[in-house]
Amino acid sequence: MLNAADVKQFCLNAGADVVGIASMDRFEGAPLQSDPRQIFPDAKSMIVMGFRIPRGSLRGIEEGTFYVSYCSMGYAAINHVLQPMVLWQITRMIEDEGYEAVPIPNNFPWTNNAGADGEPRLTFSKPVAEGRAAPDVFVHMRIAAMAAGVGEIGWSKMLLTKRFGPRQRLAAIITDAELEPDPIIEPGTICDKCKLCCRDCTGNAIPVDKTVKINLAGYEVEWADIDYDLCSRYFCGMSPEHNPFMTNFPEDQEGFAQEVSKGQRYKVGPTYDYGRALEGARGCIRACMMHLEEQGKLENKFEHPFRRRPAWKL
Ligand code: SF4
Ligand code: SF4
Repeated sequence: MLNAADVKQFCLNAGADVVGIASMDRFEGAPLQSDPRQIFPDAKSMIVMGFRIPRGSLRGIEEGTFYVSYCSMGYAAINHVLQPMVLWQITRMIEDEGYEAVPIPNNFPWTNNAGADGEPRLTFSKPVAEGRAAPDVFVHMRIAAMAAGVGEIGWSKMLLTKRFGPRQRLAAIITDAELEPDPIIEPGTICDKCKLCCRDCTGNAIPVDKTVKINLAGYEVEWADIDYDLCSRYFCGMSPEHNPFMTNFPEDQEGFAQEVSKGQRYKVGPTYDYGRALEGARGCIRACMMHLEEQGKLENKFEHPFRRRPAWKL
């Protein structure tokens, strides 16, 4: 018989760094397109895991000298290599115990993302029956992580954990095994609304005064209404002051200003494909992490502060 403590320990032994469990009733009220119960209506529990982004993978971007470490080891390889390896182990273990386990890695290449009104894009896919979501359901991993007591959603909309702050990527498993849920971390436990994430975001994509609010299992949760169009361009390096690969300014910058679907913005210096995060999450990860570390809020302690020289700017 599976129990929550053993399952969580198995997840940690398999390679997850933080883990929590949500009961499926915590998703009551979720928009149809984002409701994980649409994937597995008989599910009883959702296991949500965080996989740490090594602090050192951000070092080369902090110094402006080595980018491939974050883009691969801190980003693409966590989602595409580490998470699937761990998810396979856990699904095998759960299914050996006679329960079904749906693995959900942090990789949604063809999801039918709910728009602002929660409606599917019917030009992309259509529901197979009335009352069902159009494929693929878009599981909001940060909300799932909060529902599972893994962390809270900060002002930056990043999932913040007590162990790593904003430094993890998320994956989940939905199962029909009934497992004891973890308590939810009350909003405001970690994020103090310092807004340093807004100040350091190179694209000004995180507003200081415009928010989104949801209700999650009785808690009001609020985060900044991120401008995704700006973030999608600047996190790849649209700011010439923060992109040493933009050697052909302004021609290169015009590429970054293209629509996402045109793909032009990646044609700059080395191409990192999926792990193209040249900006190194300057606001939503680095500034936030430094702030939370300075406050002594994070359990993952370091001998030396992250920023050791003045931040560079071209
Ligand atoms: S930088 Fe400050 S306001 Fe932004 S998410 Fe982190 S703690 Fe919250
Ligand atoms: S990834 Fe970069 S551009 Fe996007 S919100 Fe974070 S700091 Fe801003």
